[in-house]
Amino acid sequence: MINNGVTVVGYRPRKVSVPVKKGGMVRLEVRRQQDVIVVYGIFSASYKPSAVTYNIQAEDIDSILKFGRSIHGEAFLNGKRLPGGKFRGPLPEDEVMHTEGGGAYALPGITDAEEAVPLFPEYERSTEITDGAPTQFDNKTNYHQRAIWELKTGIERKGVQLITMHGKGVCDGYSNSPAKALNLAAAAGKIVGQDGPRDVVLYLARDRPTPQTLKTGISGYWKADQIIYIYYDERLFTKTSVPDAKPMPGSSKVHMAAAKKTADKAAALRDGPLLTSAYFCGCSACTASNFDGCLMKDAFGSVVPKNCARASNVGLASQTMQLEDFARTLERDRVVAVRVSADEADIEGMLWFAILDDTPIKLTEATMHAGQEFGEGWLVAHGHWFSLQGAPAANGDRTYVILPEVVILNVNSMLPVATPIIFNAANKNARPRRARGGGFNSITTYLLNNSAWESLTGLL
Ligand SMILES: [Zn+2]
Repeated sequence: MINNGVTVVGYRPRKVSVPVKKGGMVRLEVRRQQDVIVVYGIFSASYKPSAVTYNIQAEDIDSILKFGRSIHGEAFLNGKRLPGGKFRGPLPEDEVMHTEGGGAYALPGITDAEEAVPLFPEYERSTEITDGAPTQFDNKTNYHQRAIWELKTGIERKGVQLITMHGKGVCDGYSNSPAKALNLAAAAGKIVGQDGPRDVVLYLARDRPTPQTLKTGISGYWKADQIIYIYYDERLFTKTSVPDAKPMPGSSKVHMAAAKKTADKAAALRDGPLLTSAYFCGCSACTASNFDGCLMKDAFGSVVPKNCARASNVGLASQTMQLEDFARTLERDRVVAVRVSADEADIEGMLWFAILDDTPIKLTEATMHAGQEFGEGWLVAHGHWFSLQGAPAANGDRTYVILPEVVILNVNSMLPVATPIIFNAANKNARPRRARGGGFNSITTYLLNNSAWESLTGLL
């Protein structure tokens, strides 16, 4: 009926002192604790779990932790739908449901979260533990994703392959609980065989919004505090989001792989540079990804650089260009995408759009505009912001209006894309048009289709 990708995330590890009674005395014992979330990514059984489904879900988890919003799937936490995501459907209200057997039970409704609340805003670095089973997913594509993850998400991702013989991972203890809940629901006539994956997600988000005390045999350190359910429409699983990669030589001996940092972002996106090792080292230097300073180098040896490149570079290298070359292409009526810092990213996401009034000029002295400082020597242009109207449509298309106010835009914060960004006037399939005075009204709506949005956010 459904596929269920289970990820268990432990974060904010810490040591706490707990009072323990021993022989009539109370003593303080130091215990390790962390916050734990179990994430169920649910999609149609007709789509096979793969490196694509896994990495789409991983990107959503990182975004939910750091920014409080999903990117791809429709995500639910504590009975609320989180901001972000595509192919979102209508939400159910409070209901009294009737079972097939004639019984009745109450299901609470779901509402949209009012704002994006990051669960772990200080999130910078992750260690991904996968089991080494080659059937789990296409390893080469996953290696490539590790290499480019920080460029894509702002979060460094180091991967550790468990040797399969080492036994069961934490996920195994959790993977059964939605199945159990669904079996119970089916037995009680609450859910029927032909219910699709989104129905299942909505049911679980309403009936099981928080972890139950299950006898999963999971130790306290990995005991889940919260559950995130994410529904994935199959159309989200695209090669644009997770491109295929070429095989990496000697990968069967690699048990640790981390991105090799490089200043050349375009080359990194293409070549997937990694630092690899046959061992996972947990020394303080390696934990901070300072592999040169490894305290166990004598035993484990040095890390080995390897590349795990994209299988195809179609549409990649030519899409971004040097800033100066890019600035020379800018002129009146050109639409630009502006990168937004994480704390300003709201429902509009990490890219805002503007239409230019003029070609950029270099500032000869620092200036202030609308409370913002622009430094001497900066390349700036005048323009107008696009403003997103409501949430993206079910198919991911986004509707905007152009704001009449003239603003100053910094060329350095624009995404240097070679191909023009096309907005269409939603009703007449025409480019944005100026009013007689040269400005814009804030009534005409413009459409940015989902594939244009995806290919731009893929360059962030
Ligand atoms: Zn080390």
